[in-house]
Amino acid sequence: KNVLLEVKGLKTQFFMDDGKVAKAVDGVDFEIRKGETLALVGESGSGKSITSLSIMQLIQSPPGKIVAGSIELEGKDLLKLSEKEMTNVRGNDIGMIFQEPMTSLNPVFTIGNQIAEPLMKHKKMKKKEAYAKALELLKLVGFPRAEEIINEYPHQLSGGMRQRAMIAMALSCNPKLLIADEPTTALDVTIQAQILDLMIDMKEEFGSSILMITHDLGVVAETADRVMVMYGGQIVESADVKELFTDPKHPYTVGLLASMPQIDDDKERLEAIPGMVPPAHNFPQGCRFAPRCKHAMEKCTNDVPELYEAGPGHKVRCVLYDGKE
Ligand code: SF4
Ligand code: MG
Repeated sequence: KNVLLEVKGLKTQFFMDDGKVAKAVDGVDFEIRKGETLALVGESGSGKSITSLSIMQLIQSPPGKIVAGSIELEGKDLLKLSEKEMTNVRGNDIGMIFQEPMTSLNPVFTIGNQIAEPLMKHKKMKKKEAYAKALELLKLVGFPRAEEIINEYPHQLSGGMRQRAMIAMALSCNPKLLIADEPTTALDVTIQAQILDLMIDMKEEFGSSILMITHDLGVVAETADRVMVMYGGQIVESADVKELFTDPKHPYTVGLLASMPQIDDDKERLEAIPGMVPPAHNFPQGCRFAPRCKHAMEKCTNDVPELYEAGPGHKVRCVLYDGKE
C-alpha cells in the first residue's frame, strides 16, 4: 500500500479546571499517501492545529491528552513509542513548519547551528559535514548569501527569510512527512507565493508528503492533491482538490468557497458564513454545523451525521447525502 501515515479514531481532549472537557479532535480518520500533499482546512478553532500537534505528540499535557486512536507511520503506531523514540521520529521522519518561525528557531543560536545540530544528533554527521549540508540546504531554499546567513542569528533575518530557514531546518533530515501549519499566513502575498513554490519544489526534490494546514483556500488550490475539511473537531468533507473546488457538497465547504476572494471579481464583497465555530467543550447536538446551516432540518439535530460516500473518494458528513429518500 502506498500509505505513509494512517490516522484512525483520533481523539484529543483538553481537561479544563472547571471540569469541562474540550473535544478538540473528536474521532478523526485519514491517511496521507506517499508523495502527496493533503490539505486540512477549516476556520480557526476547528481542530486543525490540534490534529497536527497530536501527530507530532506536542500536545501540552496536562491539560491536553490523546484519549483514543492510533497514528501509524508506515505501519508503526507513534502513540505506542517512548518519548525518546518519538524524539527520533520528530528529528528523522516528520518535519514541521509553523506560522511563526520564532517558535521553532532558537534566538541564541546561529541559523547554521540550528540546521547542523539535528544532523549531528539524528544522522550522526561530523560537525564539518553537518555545516556543509546546512549551507547546501540554505542555498536550496533560495538564499543567495547562504555563506553569510549560516552565521547569522534569527533576529537578523526578515520574516520571509526566517520562514525559509525554518523550511531548511525541517528538511534537513529529509523527512518522510512535512507538516506545515499556516506556513505563509504571516507573510505578505509575494513572499507567500515564493514560500509555497519552494515547498512544492522541495516536495518534488525530496519525495516527501506534506500535510498542509491552512484556512486559506487559495493555498489549498495551489498546493494540494487532496483536501479534508474540518469542523467541530471532525472531518466533514474530503475529496480530490479538483472535485472539492468544482463540486463541494457539505454546506460548510460551500460556504467556505463562497467566502473565497475571486481574482476576476471586482466587488470585494465576501459572503462569510454567519455565526461562529462552536466551542469544543460545548458542541451542539447532532450535526455541529446545524446552527449555521441554511439547510438544517429536524433530523440534523438528532445524531452526528456519518461520513457518507458522495462519489469516488469523496466523503461528506451531512444528512443531505445519506442516500435516503
Ligand atoms: Fe446542514 Fe443538516 Fe447537513 Fe448539517 S446535516 S450540514 S445541518 S443539512
Ligand atoms: Mg491553527
